[in-house]
Amino acid sequence: MPDVIFEINRDLNVSMRDQVVPGHNRWHPDIPAATTIRPGGSYRIECKDWTDNQVKNDDSPDDIRDMDIDPCHMLSGPFAIEGAEPGDLLVVDILNMGPFQEQSWGYTGIFSKENGGGFLTDYSPQASKAIWDLDGIWASSRHIPGVRFIGNSHPGLFGCAPSHDLLSEWNRREQALIDLNPHRVTGDIPPHDGVVPGAPQVPALALPPLPQGALLGTLSGSSFDKVAAEACRTIPPREHGGNVDIKDLGVGSRVYMPVYVPGALFSIGDLHFAQGDGEITFCGAIEMPGFIDLHFDVIKGGMDRYKTNMPFFKPGRVGPNYSEFITFEGISVEDGRNYYLNATVAYRQACLNAINYLMPAMGWSFEQAYLFLGAAPIEGRIGGLVDIPNAAASVSIPLSIFDRNILPV
Ligand code: ZN
Repeated sequence: MPDVIFEINRDLNVSMRDQVVPGHNRWHPDIPAATTIRPGGSYRIECKDWTDNQVKNDDSPDDIRDMDIDPCHMLSGPFAIEGAEPGDLLVVDILNMGPFQEQSWGYTGIFSKENGGGFLTDYSPQASKAIWDLDGIWASSRHIPGVRFIGNSHPGLFGCAPSHDLLSEWNRREQALIDLNPHRVTGDIPPHDGVVPGAPQVPALALPPLPQGALLGTLSGSSFDKVAAEACRTIPPREHGGNVDIKDLGVGSRVYMPVYVPGALFSIGDLHFAQGDGEITFCGAIEMPGFIDLHFDVIKGGMDRYKTNMPFFKPGRVGPNYSEFITFEGISVEDGRNYYLNATVAYRQACLNAINYLMPAMGWSFEQAYLFLGAAPIEGRIGGLVDIPNAAASVSIPLSIFDRNILPV
């Protein structure tokens, strides 16, 4: 077993804040390294689930409904890699990962519309939850009967720290987006604006820095407040990778990551036992705490040599290798309105068409089908983006997941 370089107390009720070395939940180059490691070695990193243990193994969705997202995502790290410098590429091999022996279950949640919602929040505004039992490579759920599948385990979120310049750029452009409609979430438009108050819309356009709930590793004292005030949230993917939620970044993958600061300051978390393309329920994978084994190397000057400022990767060859699917189509037309080449709308329609089919075929509620599409290793594809005015997208579901033949007879 590789050396453990980040340890999580096996009493999983112990918060990330109270670990021997705490992790962090914001991005900033001044968050101190948890430890320094040599490239050329393999290491084990232990992780909390992304919410720091806010979800329980029971049948009530109240914990999802009341989720505090301010402390999310709880990440392990940062790890300084000896010799890594800005402009290098950090080479990360994903060697192995899995749940802890102490918790052989994970969860998928649908956020309520009042708490930010998800991809289909207008169709399913209430909080909902599925607990998945993890049995080796298999997942099944008492909340979603009739399916059992092999997980495509992967980390939802990892990346190197941004430089100060890159951090400022993230804050600048995300604030500019928020400024387009600052009253979007509250719908609370002051009367003197001369604008008719609108209905609240979720989710927010973007999330600005938020000192409340911030955890910055071992940083404390006066520098804590300054860093917390400008550190970026972990929700969106950015130029360092971050929360990409790419299900194909599984075991066996080799990832090439841009280095923006001395030592790279690599962090990781949000482990997923399985996930469908799009992670549509937002809390949409099978979320779990657990371990991940990584090997690190450095390519000096790799960003310039390979002309990149984004991660790229070679996916692993470890399954699940499904061969037969049922595929649902969607186009960029919603509620009688034609959206111009909009792949998001097309994907939503493909998901809705899948749900409408699965509900009677499996005897499921809308929420059960929705949770299933977020958690199971479904394949999302963009078909055409050129056939004006409609984008086409598709959702493919492996047939062997189901305990019955769901094809039309
Ligand atoms: Zn996740």
